[in-house]
Amino acid sequence: MKILVLNCGSSSLKYQVLEMSPNDNTLLAKGLVERIGSPNACHTHKIDGKDKYQVEKPISNHTEGIKSVLDILTDKEYGVLKDLSEIEAVGHRVAHGGEYFFKSVAVDEEVVEKIEKCCELAPLHNPANLTGIKAMAKLMPDVPQVAVFDTSFHQSMPDYAYMYALDYSYYEKYKIRRFGFHGTSHKFVAEKACKLAGLDLGKAKLITCHLGNGSSITAIEGGRSVDTSMGFTPVEGVTMGTRSGNLDVGVVTFLMEKEGLDAAGINNLVNKQSGLQGISGFSSDCRDLVDAEKSGYKRAELALAKLAYDIKKYIGAYAAVLNGVDMIVFTGGIGENSDRVRELVCTGLEYLGVDFDFAKNNGTRGVDVELSKPKSKVKVWAVTTNEELVIATDTMNIVTEMQERAAQSENN
Ligand code: ADP
Repeated sequence: MKILVLNCGSSSLKYQVLEMSPNDNTLLAKGLVERIGSPNACHTHKIDGKDKYQVEKPISNHTEGIKSVLDILTDKEYGVLKDLSEIEAVGHRVAHGGEYFFKSVAVDEEVVEKIEKCCELAPLHNPANLTGIKAMAKLMPDVPQVAVFDTSFHQSMPDYAYMYALDYSYYEKYKIRRFGFHGTSHKFVAEKACKLAGLDLGKAKLITCHLGNGSSITAIEGGRSVDTSMGFTPVEGVTMGTRSGNLDVGVVTFLMEKEGLDAAGINNLVNKQSGLQGISGFSSDCRDLVDAEKSGYKRAELALAKLAYDIKKYIGAYAAVLNGVDMIVFTGGIGENSDRVRELVCTGLEYLGVDFDFAKNNGTRGVDVELSKPKSKVKVWAVTTNEELVIATDTMNIVTEMQERAAQSENN
């Protein structure tokens, strides 16, 4: 089954086409349309074994962006499809499913309405995701679409984990609660790491660390998320590329008064100017900070130390939440690649039963690998994540089920 995976952002869209079967999958093409809405939008497209295709042209909205994608997919030189009818389903990444969705679903009118209702919870992302769904429905009306939510994996959190200690009426009125994000990645790496390490996902106690520009840590028990570090928005939790992570709310009110900032100003400050960027004063990129630390730049050292300290505190907290831990999993750009951050996090976790293999960790990047010593009570693994593959897999499963149900009712 050929599946188009779409991830629509406010002014960009990422896509992949995958050939999926129950036991195998192949990536046929992937690409990115950037600066949608501007006269010099850019479409980059890549298939295996060929130079990448890249053109700048005006693309005024997502429908035009998707048209550009469909055109290149059937192009004589760069295409991977003879005809668009080969696409059997489309899977969409959707940022926020609120309390409506605890798993991926086939898109229908009711689903679209509910995603619309979640727009105020994710004002930058959900409207863009919806634009993609609506554009696709217009361009390929007979192709089934599936929505895969960043939040749904965390809907299994108990109420005491997701509540904020605010007046309960705010939860009732506005759904002010913790939701968590990166759900597809946490779920994927938990399953993958258990398979690789020979653990039973149904019984294992896991702490998964998705560390990228945005980072979150999740406590998983029996394959279900029981707590996660991001909250009502992705700002909560550990220090990130440009997000502050946890912050005393008193700092916010203080800065609003001192700097004359309004809600938009604070939003910009905690989302765009904080984190590794804010502390180091020169980069949000972990690679730059590791290089700068080596050359003795103190604030780069401080930014990395703060990041690792935050992660370590969550590991301690979640070990308590889970009453023990069988495996710690690192993933995401930093988790998969930064031996320095993994080393900082795993130094001093002996009390927990972690016997980290520092020599093996050194220089290891971008592979699925065990980083603890064979006799370590708590296993440590780094595994590569693949959110698009989760979206394609969920889409294939849901669409196959729909097809089987349709065939059955025809037979009846
Ligand atoms: P996003 O959250 O945008 O998906 P990624 O998961 O791609 O982000 O992670 C980006 C982060 O990964 C950056 O901080 C980058 O420096 C870091 N990273 C990527 N490759 C390496 C590497 N080889 N060594 C250290 N950090 C790396």
